[in-house]
Amino acid sequence: MAAGDYYDILGVSRNADDTEIKKAYRGLARKYHPDVNKDPGAEDKFKEINEAYSVLSDAQKRQQYDRMGHEAFTNASKGSYGGGGYGGGFNADFSGFGDIFDFAGDIFGGFGRQRGPRRGDDLLMRIEVSLRDAVFGADREIEVMHAESCTTCDGTGSETKKTKNCPKCGGTGQIRQATQTPFGNFVRQSTCDFCHGKGKVAEKPCSKCKGSGHEKVRRKVSVHIPPGVDTGMRLRLEGYGEAGDHGAPNGDLYIEIHVKPEPRFHRDGDTLLTKIQITPAQAVLGTTVEVTTIDRRHLEVKVPAGTQGGKKLRISGEGVRKRGRPGDLLVEVEVTIPKHVSGELKELYEKILELEGKKNPGGSGNEKKGFFESILGG
Ligand SMILES: [Zn+2]
Ligand SMILES: [Zn+2]
Repeated sequence: MAAGDYYDILGVSRNADDTEIKKAYRGLARKYHPDVNKDPGAEDKFKEINEAYSVLSDAQKRQQYDRMGHEAFTNASKGSYGGGGYGGGFNADFSGFGDIFDFAGDIFGGFGRQRGPRRGDDLLMRIEVSLRDAVFGADREIEVMHAESCTTCDGTGSETKKTKNCPKCGGTGQIRQATQTPFGNFVRQSTCDFCHGKGKVAEKPCSKCKGSGHEKVRRKVSVHIPPGVDTGMRLRLEGYGEAGDHGAPNGDLYIEIHVKPEPRFHRDGDTLLTKIQITPAQAVLGTTVEVTTIDRRHLEVKVPAGTQGGKKLRISGEGVRKRGRPGDLLVEVEVTIPKHVSGELKELYEKILELEGKKNPGGSGNEKKGFFESILGG
């Protein structure tokens, strides 16, 4: 919903600490709260401020936001239902309102906690993605089992879609019980157990949802996984959690990413690491080898003459995509020493040894001596 960068909305720098963010938020929330500011647009601004604050005040969300950028972060939550004919019930603008009012109460003193219909619970699902999908992003269809508004009673819980005042508490949602004691009359107030504090009950309880107003539904949800995700990151799909009370927003669905390990590649942040094997002769003279990228393209990589084992060659832009600028691919060179050589190859290795002045004239079993002799000139 927020059009611009969350830092700009709160008017803080990208490295602002929690205290600065909270201070900026409080100032702005006070200025734009709809109870205080009657300007047209103030309410939208207030929601924007809250959205920005809900992300930047949460260390994990903030890190994810910094990492993916505004565009990718906000798009991640734009999922859509696979099955047609739905969409009316979700209003993304209202998600997180519970948090806002909790906080607003704290700022405006006496504002009080709204005891109205309860927002739906959030849901958490874990999905596995391949490293390749984590690098490039992917669209996935997942199945979610959650509570939705009952279609028969429109979520009212009443067959007639009408409610009436609770007969037990008379619509107050509270029950007062007076007890006489030797010390006087005690009045105890508690939440009405008949209407659970709502004050209203179904005129005629809906037979489909037994008056709850909710039904469990299995839905296919399309999820856009933005490029650059990593294990432990959570994507939020606004309004895809459990349905709230009638008239209250749904909870959100969080999708926690788990990136499957990939045998050919090791990931370190935005850098990918892979290995290649070359022979001692290739290491000495230099060579060109083929490296397969994460998306299975083949690249020719030049290994310079004199490359040592363990050397990492950098191929820029073939790592993990992040905010338009991809990381690098490091190619670690392993020099494979042949276990057995024979024939002409063996003769050549012996010749090399001789030219290096390290050849042991006495043959095997006496190498140490020969080695020291050649160094000490003995
Ligand atoms: Zn009641
Ligand atoms: Zn119903």
